[in-house]
Amino acid sequence: MKEDIQHNLNLINERIENACLRSNRQRSEVQLLLATKTVPAERIKLAFECGELLMAENKVQEIKEKYEVLKSIAHTKHFIGYLQSNKIKDILKYDVSCIQSIDRLDLAEKLNQRLLFENKTMDIFVQVNTSYEDSKFGAKPEETLALVEQLANLEAIRIKGLMTIGLFSSEVEKVRKCFRLLKELQQKIKALKIPNVQVEELSMGMSGDLEIAIEEGATMVRVGTAIFGERIYPDHYYWDESKALK
Ligand SMILES: *Cc1c(COP(=O)(O)O)cnc(C)c1O
Repeated sequence: MKEDIQHNLNLINERIENACLRSNRQRSEVQLLLATKTVPAERIKLAFECGELLMAENKVQEIKEKYEVLKSIAHTKHFIGYLQSNKIKDILKYDVSCIQSIDRLDLAEKLNQRLLFENKTMDIFVQVNTSYEDSKFGAKPEETLALVEQLANLEAIRIKGLMTIGLFSSEVEKVRKCFRLLKELQQKIKALKIPNVQVEELSMGMSGDLEIAIEEGATMVRVGTAIFGERIYPDHYYWDESKALK
C-alpha cells in the first residue's frame, strides 16, 4: 500500500536528515536510492509516486521484467548487482544510467567495446570489497587505484564514484572501518588527478547502517528492506550469483 511506503520513506528520510545534522552535512549531499530487487514493479511505482525517483536493480532479468510498467514515470535507474559479461548487451537496452558494480578490468573492457559499438557512454562506480569477505564482490582495496587508472583509458566509460557494501556486523566500529576505507580510497584517487576520472560519489550504507555511512561521507545510500519490507531470497542469492547458481 502507498501509505506504508510513504510512511517508511518518511522514516528513512528522517534518519538521513538526522545523520546529516550530526555530521554537519547538508541533506542535499546525500541521495536516497531505492534498492528494488524482488520488489514488484507496481510497488516500486508507489515509491516513485511518493517522489523518490532513483532506483537500482541487481539483475538484468528484473530490469527487463519491470521495464514496461515503470517507464510511464520518468526515473533514474542504476545497476548494483553482479554483472556477468554475457549480460552487457542486454543491460544497455533498458536506460540504465550508471553501473555501480564494476570491479574488474575485463568486464569494463567488454562494456567499453559494446558502448563504442553502440555509440553510447556509461557512468560507472567502482565496487570495492572493503570488508574483505570472500562472499562479496568488489575489487580489493589495495588493487583499486591501479584498476581506476586502467579504467580511465576506456573512452566510453565515465568513472563517477566508488561503491561498497559494509561488513554485516553489529559492531559499529568494524562497519565504520569499511566506509572510512572507501572514503580514503576516494581521496587517494582524487590526489592522482587522473584525466577522465571524477570520483565524487560514494555509494555506501543500506537499511541497517546508513547513519554510519553518512557520517563517513556517503553521497548515496541504497535502501531496500526498510522501505519495501523483508525479501524472501537470502542476499547471497544476489551478491554471489556464481555460488547461488551452482
Ligand atoms: C539489496 C541491496 C541493498 C539494500 O539492502 P537493504 O538492507 O535491503 O537496505 C543495497 N545495496 C546492494 C548492493 C544490495 O544488493
